Amino acid sequence: MSLKDVLWFDPRRIFIDGEWRNAAGGQTIDVENPSTGEVIGAIARGSSADVDAAVRAAQKAMDGEWGRMTATERGRILMKMSAIVLERADDLAMIEALDVGKPLHQSKNDSRALARYLEFYAGAADKLFGTTIPYQNGFTVYTLREPHGVAGIIIPWNYPMQILGRGVGAALAAGNACVLKPAEDASLSSLAFAEIAREAGVPAGAVNVVTGLGTEAGAVLSEHPGIHHISFTGSVGTGMRIQAAAARNVVPVTLELGGKSPHIVFDDCDLDKAMPTLVGACMQNAGQTCSAASRVLVQRGVYEEVKRRMAEIYRGLEAGPAVGSHALGPLVSRKQKQLVSSFIDIGRKELTVAAEGVIRDDASDAGNYVPPVLFADVSPDHKLAQEEIFGPVQVLIPFEDEDEALKIANGTEYGLVAGVWTKDGGRQMRMARKLEVGQVFINNYGAGGGIELPFGGVGKSGHGREKGFEALYGFTRVKTVTASHG
Ligand code: ADP
Repeated sequence: MSLKDVLWFDPRRIFIDGEWRNAAGGQTIDVENPSTGEVIGAIARGSSADVDAAVRAAQKAMDGEWGRMTATERGRILMKMSAIVLERADDLAMIEALDVGKPLHQSKNDSRALARYLEFYAGAADKLFGTTIPYQNGFTVYTLREPHGVAGIIIPWNYPMQILGRGVGAALAAGNACVLKPAEDASLSSLAFAEIAREAGVPAGAVNVVTGLGTEAGAVLSEHPGIHHISFTGSVGTGMRIQAAAARNVVPVTLELGGKSPHIVFDDCDLDKAMPTLVGACMQNAGQTCSAASRVLVQRGVYEEVKRRMAEIYRGLEAGPAVGSHALGPLVSRKQKQLVSSFIDIGRKELTVAAEGVIRDDASDAGNYVPPVLFADVSPDHKLAQEEIFGPVQVLIPFEDEDEALKIANGTEYGLVAGVWTKDGGRQMRMARKLEVGQVFINNYGAGGGIELPFGGVGKSGHGREKGFEALYGFTRVKTVTASHG
């Protein structure tokens, strides 16, 4: 299957003001298939002129047809987009598999999730209410929830469809116009989304997609004085730069950054239920997931059994070409492969390998494959237990009791999500309160993607919340109206 078979638009163009255009500078960036290392196409390398045109088009949309639409009309358009995504779900999944190296069963899940985000926010658009506030006699006070205006949305390469769905979906539902900057390693599905927006009849300028490098198009977008809100998902370092850029224009920012999420297994849990999830919660997308459960904290009473059973699962894990839909695909890029391999090399030197999976024979040497590796008996302060690896690597850490589990779980600079496995109801509640994270899973992990569930972090995992209704609050500002009528 080649890219040409599934693309129904020209990926070398950018989408501004309802039209496909060549980038002002005329330059392109190669698209590589991570499964094979082959160049399979090219995208436009947008520059500051393109970003500027996109921001101006978005403002024009706010001042024009898009800005005048009722919430119900915006919801209907989002619903139409959702329907087109579902019609195109298989093509979108194949595009993502070829562009990002995501196994087909996972990229199909992503395209369905994109449809679901659009559907959720379509339904929410006209249910975003203000409030009335009891005040002094002779006054009526109410709040209006208004869109910020032009939203800059910068997304990473690991879940492009899901992350653009939750970002652009919520931003549009709340009445903003968007400029989307996808990652240079994973732009094709965002371009497909632009074409879907066009087909669905989104008014010109409400959705703009500018591809390009982070340090060029991304940086210009985050610094642009015409942007009123920035939503960013990606690495901590880039998040810091974006927050600093936003500060210069004093605009609000939502940051969803990395994680080193703990999966905490107590002696009394239902181990048969927990086992597949303990591994799956990190192996999905080859560990390239912000909320990957990369630390598995296990109480001493079941530690050896969990280690043995996880090791068994690891030995059956295979990494192979994305279109083969194996448990793991390749990593997204050579850069990412080098980064993850350097962590694995440190682990092999300094830690105990409990088990590892295999790279299949049909995986090309030029692809970006790494084997999944499980390290055991890891000290909580080891580099591999502290730093985000963003690859298929987990560390097993033993603990004695609840207090120690909490101390280890909360002992990194991140705080995105946590999973707790225990049958003790009191402990479930205590852990949920004391874990310093944005989302806690009790006897499950991941909650099926959680479109409806507010998601975001504390500490270096970021601030603000994506997903669910909560995201709509982030994409709006509150105006208080105080009327004196005697
Ligand atoms: P990674 O290093 O894994 O590629 P990043 O956090 O740098 O992760 O990338 C996430 C997104 O941020 C991508 O769309 C990328 O192009 C963009 N980006 C990278 N650097 C900058 C920057 N300085 N300003 C704005 N966006 C950036």
